[in-house]
Amino acid sequence: MAPQKPGEGVRDELAFFRDLGFRDLFLDATPSDTPALVPGSIRDLATLQRFLEGCPRCKLSKSRTNIVFGQGNPKAELMFVGEAPGHEEDVQGLAFVGRAGQLLTKIIEAIGKKREDVYIANILKCRPPNNRNPETDEVAQCTPFLEEQIRLISPRVIVTLGTFAAQAILGTDEPIGRLRGHFRSAHGVRVMPTYHPAFLLRSPERKKDVWEDMKLVRDFLAEG
Ligand code: URA
Repeated sequence: MAPQKPGEGVRDELAFFRDLGFRDLFLDATPSDTPALVPGSIRDLATLQRFLEGCPRCKLSKSRTNIVFGQGNPKAELMFVGEAPGHEEDVQGLAFVGRAGQLLTKIIEAIGKKREDVYIANILKCRPPNNRNPETDEVAQCTPFLEEQIRLISPRVIVTLGTFAAQAILGTDEPIGRLRGHFRSAHGVRVMPTYHPAFLLRSPERKKDVWEDMKLVRDFLAEG
């Protein structure tokens, strides 16, 4: 038998998995001294934020300026979850502080609340280059931290902003046009999917849909 050339075994193995229908290859490049999160083990948000400092777990760590942990009332009954930080959020290290964030503030105020009353976070804590969509491996690495935040805050309602957040939290690929406006449930919490404020900036005619969704949220919270 002819000796294998370097890399040939790996090529054969990759071809084998390709033929089985695998399309994504996850390279586990997490440095071995990066501690794994044990779900349920963190006592408060400040501890979780410290745990995440300098996070090297996915490739976004190479291009981000700041980790955008999320901010707001640690005991909020209402939590918003967006997609990922944009340019302004990356620079300031705060969620929803750009133009979409200003519109989010108006949405919050429209139901009689202030930004300080609610908690605002994202599926991803680091900005994807050029605001591209989050990738599967990035979501897989980052989601446990959002889940830990949800557990610690224990909100009564989560409003997901846009397709990506709704699909990631609810584990579905249903389109946002079908998901929005109906309460679902995830992580033991009521979830109201609605449109992303950045989408509303491009399509202001959909603001009335978000208002309808937010009225359902307001009324649910008022029920006590
Ligand atoms: N868009 C998001 O999804 N999140 C932010 O924090 C800002 C813009």
